[in-house]
Amino acid sequence: MKLAFVSMVSARVNKINESATVSMSNRAAELKAEGKKIYNFGIGEPDFKTPQSIIDYSYKMAGEGKTHYTPSAGIPELREKIAEKMKKKNNIDVSSKNVLVTPTKFSLNLALYTIIDPGDEVMLPAPYYVSYTDIIKLNEGKALIFDTDENYEFDFDKMRKMVSPKTKAFMLNNPVNPTGKVYSERTLRQLSDFILENNLFLISDEIYEDLIYKGKMFSPGSIKEMKEKTVTLSGFSKSYAMTGWRIGYMVAPEDIIKAANKVQQQTLTCAPSVSQYAALNALDDEDDVIEMRNVFNKRRMLALSLLKEIDGINVYEPEGAFYIFPGYNKDIKSSELAMDLLNNQNVIITPGLPFGAEKHFRISYATSDDVITEGISRIKKYFNSKN
Ligand code: PMP
Repeated sequence: MKLAFVSMVSARVNKINESATVSMSNRAAELKAEGKKIYNFGIGEPDFKTPQSIIDYSYKMAGEGKTHYTPSAGIPELREKIAEKMKKKNNIDVSSKNVLVTPTKFSLNLALYTIIDPGDEVMLPAPYYVSYTDIIKLNEGKALIFDTDENYEFDFDKMRKMVSPKTKAFMLNNPVNPTGKVYSERTLRQLSDFILENNLFLISDEIYEDLIYKGKMFSPGSIKEMKEKTVTLSGFSKSYAMTGWRIGYMVAPEDIIKAANKVQQQTLTCAPSVSQYAALNALDDEDDVIEMRNVFNKRRMLALSLLKEIDGINVYEPEGAFYIFPGYNKDIKSSELAMDLLNNQNVIITPGLPFGAEKHFRISYATSDDVITEGISRIKKYFNSKN
């Protein structure tokens, strides 16, 4: 008798994807092993070192024995300081009771886990951060994906038609990974009206809030009526070059924080202790953020000017984050484009499809001027040879 194949892995996990770039990084590793120089635009993290003062402070605190469990929602002085930062920088009037310290990507999971029930819908504008669709699936929700226009603006009439009684939340990333779009206060106020009209929750991922070169940061959670309807997420990874410290936070109505804290207690227990002290120190360090932002801005201008010279691609000028997301008109899938660029030009880009935008590719300019100049000249060579 033949037995039906039963997967060892749950249906829930079987539904989610591995990182979009796995096969590419395998191929890149092979090319590197052959001694080839790789021009890597795939990186989603600052290439700077974490500021020394942050490292020194966390080292000192580790030496003083701060290497144990902390309260699950975070050390009180950090929660307090994050609440102050939210008031001062984001204009969101909260107290430490509204703050949960946790890695940012985990806070995306906690937010959904706390807000949605299985089968609930989460509205998601495309292009979106690659992990959102899988995080929604992992939490047994359904992504209601919709396209934005050529400037990544919202069509509220179209969005209104999509809403059903099952629609529970809206996931926003601002500034946006992968497009670099920064939404205006006006648009975010319109979006907030839409959220309130339809009784949704807004999950506002503001992890790139410090990396804005044009325009201004506006947090929808600062709108009085939105305070009870918004979960604001941010973190230290991008602003302070601290991706490996795994530290961020969630700011939300107290009931949501209490619920998310229960989940945190039964999963992570608490965020890493030394990283919490590092974060405490980071919040006093504005100078390094400004310095890194200035360098990113110079690279943005350099990459933009070089990309604009390439025939057959069109470039939206990003206002924030450290990505550019060109569209192209060649008859080739973005995954094939990525493999071609790697095999023929030793250039790593990230294909657009996993961000919900085929015929696009993402470039991270969190890399040196030399890599930007040579790498983009290789992309140009590729597009010229195919013209
Ligand atoms: N949100 C967005 C939009 C991101 O780009 C990232 C990191 N690439 C995260 C969340 C996750 O941040 P962290 O690594 O600090 O958890």
